[in-house]
Amino acid sequence: MKRIEALAVLDEVFASDPLVITCGATAREMASLSRKKTHLPLLDSMGLTTPVGLGIALGHKGRVGVIDGDGSLLMGFSILPTLKAYAPKNLIVIVLDNGQHASADGMYSQANVVDIAGAAKGLGLWTAQCDSADELKKLISSREKSDEVSLIFVKIETGNTPNIPFYLADPAKLGADFIEAVAG
Ligand SMILES: [Mg+2]
Repeated sequence: MKRIEALAVLDEVFASDPLVITCGATAREMASLSRKKTHLPLLDSMGLTTPVGLGIALGHKGRVGVIDGDGSLLMGFSILPTLKAYAPKNLIVIVLDNGQHASADGMYSQANVVDIAGAAKGLGLWTAQCDSADELKKLISSREKSDEVSLIFVKIETGNTPNIPFYLADPAKLGADFIEAVAG
């Protein structure tokens, strides 16, 4: 599955739920597909997607989605025990794992040599892995009445979708729109 195919699924599934999106090509590809005020792309904030999602989930009654990448999660890997400690049952973290920093010339990430899903599982977090749109939809749907945080690791193809323009939105405006949509 390509990243943009996974993003189309996530845009549909989290139709009106808050959705925090990691930076770089992931944010750009999502913006090319769909722009919603409930989307919070963390432009230039690598490593902070899941921490921001945790904070939102703790203050929000409904479901909250996070779209992280392997590189970004590895940068902020200390969030995993924090997720276990706070255990927000309304938070679903989707990690799109291509084993590389696709927005940084495709450098390999440590996800090539480290089982990041296994590490999360080792911390006692609920984890699942998949590599297709159908499995991804089913896994998210299966967590509707979950009593703990969910981490779904999705294997995606390497590389980026070509000809996606830079996403030059003002982060302050994105944040204000998100607050209005989610808290309003
Ligand atoms: Mg990656």
